[in-house]
Amino acid sequence: MKKIAKNKPLKLYRKPFYKSVVFGINIVSQNRKHINRIREALLLLKNTDRRLFSKVLCLKAILIYPGKDEYGAVFEKERIYVDQPETVEKASLVWLASSLVHEAWHIDQYKRGIRKYGIKTEKGAYLVQRRFLSKVGSKEDIKWLDKMYKLQWWESESTAFKKDIGYDDKSVDKTWLEFWNFLGRYKTKKLRLIDINL
Ligand SMILES: [Zn+2]
Repeated sequence: MKKIAKNKPLKLYRKPFYKSVVFGINIVSQNRKHINRIREALLLLKNTDRRLFSKVLCLKAILIYPGKDEYGAVFEKERIYVDQPETVEKASLVWLASSLVHEAWHIDQYKRGIRKYGIKTEKGAYLVQRRFLSKVGSKEDIKWLDKMYKLQWWESESTAFKKDIGYDDKSVDKTWLEFWNFLGRYKTKKLRLIDINL
């Protein structure tokens, strides 16, 4: 067990990461397309909701961890959002923009002293995300968000659905460790970064 945990991340870091600064946010991924997609989502946000856009600018970095499921997490104190390729590739631009709004809202809550992770913080972020989606998104987007909210995405549990998207207890624990490791490497400049301009 120990061996896997130790070796697997190293293998993931063999490939260098690209880094681009977009609206002052460091966007980092091994795939340039991810960076471009996040840039487009930020542009969409800028063009549709200036107020929420300015909230999102509190993010210092968006890091794409080269993992394999849909779990993402925001580190409020660091103001860093870590996500995985699958979400960036599969989600529509509107959805992506709405999830940035969601995560930025958690940072805002943190600044306001609302720090206990759970239904209270998630409800706030959900409502802001939903408001944005009702302005810019489709009915399907809202339906999906409502469905996920009802399933309580913040509660990791071993249902088939949550297992599939990486939100079961085991996966979340494992991913958290990997994210911390990843974040640590980023913060201590141990990730091999190639600066690019989009
Ligand atoms: Zn949340």
